[in-house]
Amino acid sequence: MAMGNGGRDERQEASAWVRPEVAAMAGYTPGEQPGERRVIKLNTNENPYPPGAAVRDALAEAAGSLHLYPEPSAAPLRAQAAETWNVDPEGIVAGNGSDELLTILLRAIVAPGQVVAYPSPTYSLYDTLVTIQGARAERVPYGEDWLLPADLDQVDARLFFVCNPNAPSGTAIPRERIETLLHAQPNAVVVVDEAYGDFSEVSSLPLVGRYPNLVVLRTLSKSYSLAGLRVGLAMTTPALAAQLHKVRDSYNLSRPAQAGAIAAMRDAAGFASNRAAILATRGVLQEALRARGFVVPESSANFVLARRPGEELRSLVEALSTRGVLVRWFENLPDCIRVSVGTDPEIEEFLEALDACLAARA
Ligand code: PMP
Repeated sequence: MAMGNGGRDERQEASAWVRPEVAAMAGYTPGEQPGERRVIKLNTNENPYPPGAAVRDALAEAAGSLHLYPEPSAAPLRAQAAETWNVDPEGIVAGNGSDELLTILLRAIVAPGQVVAYPSPTYSLYDTLVTIQGARAERVPYGEDWLLPADLDQVDARLFFVCNPNAPSGTAIPRERIETLLHAQPNAVVVVDEAYGDFSEVSSLPLVGRYPNLVVLRTLSKSYSLAGLRVGLAMTTPALAAQLHKVRDSYNLSRPAQAGAIAAMRDAAGFASNRAAILATRGVLQEALRARGFVVPESSANFVLARRPGEELRSLVEALSTRGVLVRWFENLPDCIRVSVGTDPEIEEFLEALDACLAARA
């Protein structure tokens, strides 16, 4: 019997209204957003530095035109992105964050029941989106070395996700290895998710347009400090881009999002100094964690994964949170913490809190 006000029975009954896949799933769990609580936030790989004045000016200007719909395909933004990344603007699809592009790709390419393959552990949203689509996930485990497992190339799948650099390991796979997968799978679409590509020496962008089945994803959320604006880009052939455009919402990027993203991409000097600061702090953070006995694979991203082999670290993450420092823990990597690269003072405070928590555990 319904109880009203969202009571338990009502929730159970509501599950009958939705598709069985949706009723059975838990839903994606984003990293904690702390609201008003003052914390050192190293749990969701945001850029610790806010965007520059050029972005704020562009947003203020866009506010004057909010009574009008935005440019439907974000053409000026795509033109700027084409220049920034040296790709064909006709091969670009802009998304409300690269998360939306992942959804668009699955909806456009993968029918219910078909297989989506990816190495694991990786970005956990892939699992959620594959389930929503009614598709099947084939996860091929990474080895200790975090190199792309050879078995992946043999999977009979409709679409492959390769997160490169990988989250949450931060490790990167050479472009030649991506090409091996592309050659092994000429009848599947290979999506290389380069959300953290700007912090890496490695990229598959030079391959875009050379393989009909390659899509490379970039986001402005991390290296351009625009996580709150929601802008991602899919780069592929004009032919495949035209198919993907059919599946997205007509006005999927707001006017402020388009204007702010263009301003950010034009600020090459601001981008370079921000990136350099993050890479320098990443080096300090890696060394500090290794000095404290953590095993840390070399990071090519704006976060590091730190492991204490065999030690369950959930309680460490909880203890850090009590001290006002948020880092991420994953159920499938119980002896690891993932720490985003913050500012130097933030990393100093994190290390102080970490030392206190480790001492309390000893
Ligand atoms: N891919 C990966 C691997 C990520 O870690 C993230 C951020 N959580 C995204 C895509 C999505 O980024 P956004 O939607 O902010 O562009």
